Amino acid sequence: MKLLKLFLILISCQSTIYAQSVYQVEIPFQSQSEVDDLANYIHIDSINANNISTVLTKDELKDLQNIDGLNPTIVGEVSTAVQSSTGIFSLFDFLADTLEFPTRDADYHTYDEVNVELNKLVKENSKHMQLFELGKSYEGRKQLGVKISYDGFANELSKPALVMFGTHHAREHLSTEVPLLMIQKISDLMKQDVDFRDLMRKRVIYVVPLINPDGAIHDIKDGVYKFWRKNRSKIKDSKHVGVDLNRNYGYKWGTGGSSSNPRSSVYKGEKAFTEPEILSVKKFVESHKNIKTMISFHTYSELILYPWGHSKSKIAKTDDQKAFVEMANQMSKWNNYKPMQASGLYVASGDTCDWAYGEHGVFCFTFELSPTAAKGMFGLGFYPGDEIIQSVVDANIDPVVYLLENTAEPLKVLE
Ligand SMILES: [Zn+2]
Repeated sequence: MKLLKLFLILISCQSTIYAQSVYQVEIPFQSQSEVDDLANYIHIDSINANNISTVLTKDELKDLQNIDGLNPTIVGEVSTAVQSSTGIFSLFDFLADTLEFPTRDADYHTYDEVNVELNKLVKENSKHMQLFELGKSYEGRKQLGVKISYDGFANELSKPALVMFGTHHAREHLSTEVPLLMIQKISDLMKQDVDFRDLMRKRVIYVVPLINPDGAIHDIKDGVYKFWRKNRSKIKDSKHVGVDLNRNYGYKWGTGGSSSNPRSSVYKGEKAFTEPEILSVKKFVESHKNIKTMISFHTYSELILYPWGHSKSKIAKTDDQKAFVEMANQMSKWNNYKPMQASGLYVASGDTCDWAYGEHGVFCFTFELSPTAAKGMFGLGFYPGDEIIQSVVDANIDPVVYLLENTAEPLKVLE
């Protein structure tokens, strides 16, 4: 039976996996405006002294090669063979359950495992936690979340709330683990720390670890990582699939740093909020006016980003601007991430935090988790191994507690 399976998988490798090879590419640049311009076509994974590094599909690469003056250099092709030789997965993974992470990354939670874990946590903490359904993905999967408040949920909407979202982007699996494992940390703190328990009598935390389940499943399917970023929605009149969920939010949507080409990994969608995965975020935030602060977890680079992303301008309300900077600086003392305005990297519009702050005044931060840079070639920045999970969770608990303390009146950080 296993031999038959191996045979079938080897045939399918030829047709599907190799066909989906992606390329590690470097592109030299002279000025910041060239970096900002590139962000209209592709996702920039990291920026070095004089080149940017990214992982592209064949189609994306072709599009870039057609642009005058650009000199993209292919550093490597990321095929199954390469992944195997770097030890990310073994032949054993081909034979194992095709919806699991590779053996090397077994500690990462699949979509099903996230839901089992959330159910378990709520069962063990039934007085202080509740399960909720944020919404459903394009393919109909539930986006499950947990509410946490020490005294239950009778006066939920009168308590200032912090929200944590994970994995808008499929391949950023570490950004599922951090909010998920944070729930257990928060539970432990409520048991051990009287001050924290008192704080949690006056606060609500909402955690949704996996915003993009369809994409996350696609990225690990068949035992090989696909470097997939978007969701899996079918695009009208196109053979290409998926919208970049962090370019589809409806504040200054489509004003730079996103693409109108469906085959781009930063495709913004036909209009704002076309995608069910983030339409559910919109509805949830609109119906929970108690939400004052937010963290959207992503990988990688070790950064704490605050608005604006769509513009190089500062926030017009001076006190808000100062509070964002102050909070980012404070939080960076614990996790050692670099605090900066999101557009300082490159301009990008339609992201969660521009919308959360621009539309609702929520003090929203994007945390780009570890590692700082891709190790070697082949985009290992997105797949850093499961051995780093716990240390990344530990590094981020104090920033979360700090933000929670300042969730009722964020401007008080300026006093
Ligand atoms: Zn991301």
